[in-house]
Amino acid sequence: MKFRDLKAQYNKYKYEIDSAIRGVINSSRFIGGEEVNVLEKRLAEYVGVKNCITCANGTDAMTLLMMAWDINEGDAVFVPDFTFFSTGEIVSFRGATPVFIDIDRDTFNIDTVKLEKAINKVLEEGKLTPKVIIPVDLFGLPADYLKIEKISKKYNLRVLEDAAQGFGGSINGKKACSFGDAATTSFFPAKPLGCYGDGGAIFTDDDSLVQLIKSLKVHGKGDNKYDNVRIGVNSRLDTIQAAVLNVKMTAFMDHELEDVNRVFKLYNEKLEGVVETPVIPDGFVSSFAQYTIKLRSKEERDLLQVKLKRQGIPSMIYYVKPMHKQDAFSELSFNEGDFKVTNELCKTVLSLPMHPYLGEEDIDLVCEVIKAYLV
Ligand SMILES: *Cc1c(COP(=O)(O)O)cnc(C)c1O
Repeated sequence: MKFRDLKAQYNKYKYEIDSAIRGVINSSRFIGGEEVNVLEKRLAEYVGVKNCITCANGTDAMTLLMMAWDINEGDAVFVPDFTFFSTGEIVSFRGATPVFIDIDRDTFNIDTVKLEKAINKVLEEGKLTPKVIIPVDLFGLPADYLKIEKISKKYNLRVLEDAAQGFGGSINGKKACSFGDAATTSFFPAKPLGCYGDGGAIFTDDDSLVQLIKSLKVHGKGDNKYDNVRIGVNSRLDTIQAAVLNVKMTAFMDHELEDVNRVFKLYNEKLEGVVETPVIPDGFVSSFAQYTIKLRSKEERDLLQVKLKRQGIPSMIYYVKPMHKQDAFSELSFNEGDFKVTNELCKTVLSLPMHPYLGEEDIDLVCEVIKAYLV
């Protein structure tokens, strides 16, 4: 059994993907071009925003926004404590200070009550200037943007939606990647919409950002690449990756998003009363980048992982370490008591195989092993 079966997806779309890649090679146009333009239009339309700008990966997508918003030393950026390193890394990369916030135990997403407290604390201390909130749509579930937008308005902060895992999710029909002032996603192969390498995108309704980001991602170009009006980076999506994504985007819209939600429902039914299963709030849709259960202790979790492995079932721990405990952030000081939920979940979460091509027999096998162990 595969944790995320990219080969099954390829086998189903082999003809389309192979022809798309061959088309790019035949054209000998490897950077930019029609495939990239078409993809950006389709992504923007699907998400329901005016602009989509692709780039080299999800980390660059966030970095480009930090550059465009001129986030620098002395600025505070609020980031969940339970996420992939990148969400905090891009803040420190700019010389700004990430302020880590504990998460909500049910949704795994940023705790909005603790967020507001942390903003007030930064304001009282007076050392840093609060600038941006980066909610993460963890495991595919959108963060609570209704509450986050109220807080951002009250304190006049920007919101960057980190939807690296969230593409395809929604709240009351409004799609992930459309929340906040701008949103970003990643096309890393294992994400809900993945390519065959690295890729990323920025989404925004703010037209004033578009020219600036298009310049920043190509060496701070002015009229052209050899007219440079600011310091930028080199961050483009390869044409071959765009061609692959154009095929995968169709599969994602046609059935993959539905299929992961079918897997989620089957797991939840079969594991009801056995173990703590994911909670999807009313009106929310997850794109299930991960299906994550909670055990009662670290010992119970670690032993379950061993039992699954013995039956050939892969599982993963997202995440082993809270952000505030990463060595890279050791110069920042924290109050350990502020991270109760994250500290607990790092010890007790386990992500099970989850992808659109997971069959019911495999789901049954996973659930049988869990039941045999826990019941
Ligand atoms: C994967 C991921 C990123 C980074 O995306 P890359 O394309 O790998 O740079 C950022 N944030 C979160 C939450 C992620 O899961």
